[in-house]
Amino acid sequence: MNYQLILDEISQEIQPLLHEGKVADYIPALADVNKNQFAMSITLFDGTTHNIGSTNELFSIQSISKVFSFTKALKIYRISLYNRIGKEPSGNPFNSLVQLEYEHGIPRNPFINAGAINVTDSLISHYKDASMAYEEVLSFIKAISEESSIYSNEIVANSEMLNGYRNMALANLMKSFNNLDNETKEVVQTYFKQCAIEMNTKMLSRSMLYLANRGVDPITNIRYISEPQAKRINAVMLTCGHYDASGDFAYKVGLPGKSGVGGGIVALVPNLMGICVWSPGLNEQGNSLVGTKALELFTTKTGLSIF
Ligand code: GLN
Repeated sequence: MNYQLILDEISQEIQPLLHEGKVADYIPALADVNKNQFAMSITLFDGTTHNIGSTNELFSIQSISKVFSFTKALKIYRISLYNRIGKEPSGNPFNSLVQLEYEHGIPRNPFINAGAINVTDSLISHYKDASMAYEEVLSFIKAISEESSIYSNEIVANSEMLNGYRNMALANLMKSFNNLDNETKEVVQTYFKQCAIEMNTKMLSRSMLYLANRGVDPITNIRYISEPQAKRINAVMLTCGHYDASGDFAYKVGLPGKSGVGGGIVALVPNLMGICVWSPGLNEQGNSLVGTKALELFTTKTGLSIF
């Protein structure tokens, strides 16, 4: 298949949509990002990559990081992780408080904010130190993307902390239900640091290969997680990776995927490739508007959906 030609076509076809969507201005440090940007990368199992647009541009990975922290926590705690978080779609916005109250502080899944904050808490408890927990997530990301230069943008993390009332509320609510071990501020700060990690589409498409290949990185042959765990992470990405638009994403794209409010979306084609698309304009559910369209065009043109 001529992937490069398909990426070129997609890049042409999404142009009229680039002015649509809204950047994540609830994080002031992200409010000034230029909406008219687009990048898309795919990485195949032999390391071949195809790229279009600003694929060297670093952006805030935000909730894409939840895939990596969930991977770490699932590997450590196995099914006991589900004593504290669920694995069902929430059908609610990513930062909603309502469901968390009537479900007694147990977040629906690891990809909504409450769930990811809870996962971060579980990692802090395991490593007995917040910065150690963060460093472990960061070094995992560096390993799976084979990129040692990755860092977290302190300005973005601090900007989120200064305005993080809702995430603090989620953490406090979980704490009130005895479903958070550590101090809420420390947990939320660590979560923001992880969200503020910056990567480009090349690195992120590369980082998805362990999930596309049943837990083993096909380039380095390193096993990061077991095959059943990889299957489950993919399932949660498919059903929960786009919050209350997860059904829409499955319907239009048909791949396991995870979005972030920085405008990135990672996805993977099982047994074949990792994908990442980036465009900062978001739709109403906080997912990249152009990114979703580009992935829809990709699976339509290639026939490479899981359905
Ligand atoms: N750091 C962001 C927040 O907590 C992540 C949200 C997202 O990417 N959906 O609001």
